[in-house]
Amino acid sequence: MSFYLEKSGKNIWHGKFSSFSSSLLVHGISTRFGGTSQPPFAAMNLALHVGDDSAAVCQNRQIFCESLGVSAESLCTPEQVHGEYIARVTRKDAGRGSKVYADALPQTDALITNEADIPLMLCFADCTPILFFDAQHHAIGMAHGGWRGTIKKIAQKTLLAMQREFGTCPADCLVGIGPSIGPCCYEVGDNVAQQFCDVFPKYRDVIVRENDHHIHLDLWAANQLQLEEVGVLPSHIDKADACTVCNPKVFFSYRAEKGKTGRIGAIISLRQHE
Ligand SMILES: [Zn+2]
Repeated sequence: MSFYLEKSGKNIWHGKFSSFSSSLLVHGISTRFGGTSQPPFAAMNLALHVGDDSAAVCQNRQIFCESLGVSAESLCTPEQVHGEYIARVTRKDAGRGSKVYADALPQTDALITNEADIPLMLCFADCTPILFFDAQHHAIGMAHGGWRGTIKKIAQKTLLAMQREFGTCPADCLVGIGPSIGPCCYEVGDNVAQQFCDVFPKYRDVIVRENDHHIHLDLWAANQLQLEEVGVLPSHIDKADACTVCNPKVFFSYRAEKGKTGRIGAIISLRQHE
């Protein structure tokens, strides 16, 4: 299992999890490369809500979706609010938020579906993308795990929603944890650290670590452990282990760019099957 970047066309790159079968689904995490946005959004900003020119964003979405082989017009994307609402997406939601932010699924931080050809997209700059694939029930999901979502256990709740809606068995589900701010760079204050210790008492020493009197948070571990807690196999969790703050040329980083930056997109879409 590994996470890797694959080049597709003119300087377009797809971040991929090797465990996700390309015959059953399409997925890809974008980088900053290959788009048309100007600084500070250069170049492949996929988010409409950050103050970038919306024509450039729509063009970027077109370029990136085309390179993946999904329809930009069918993208289903939410208004992410660091909450814990999970939407089950059906055919009627295809295209929501694809061109206009006001049309995005309101106040939603995770999407699940078992219908083909509806590309789900969430946007990120340091928060953790968590992708789910259940081959047995032909279902997918994706969650937005910033520190607030992670502490609300949005990843775990997304998986449990897939179990409820599609019959997903956690032991069968494959998970990909994408690029985001790593424990190397994620310094937090006492208050946030304490909240994590309270929510994850068993794993507090793994998730919250002190280094030279600075407290560092490991969102990757917090998401991995909350999934293992409900039965996901460690061997089924593919972690990118790529820090966005350490790699601001490759990925957008809210922290590295002091809040003024674009967003990468993570897209996942089921293929039709017989
Ligand atoms: Zn780092």
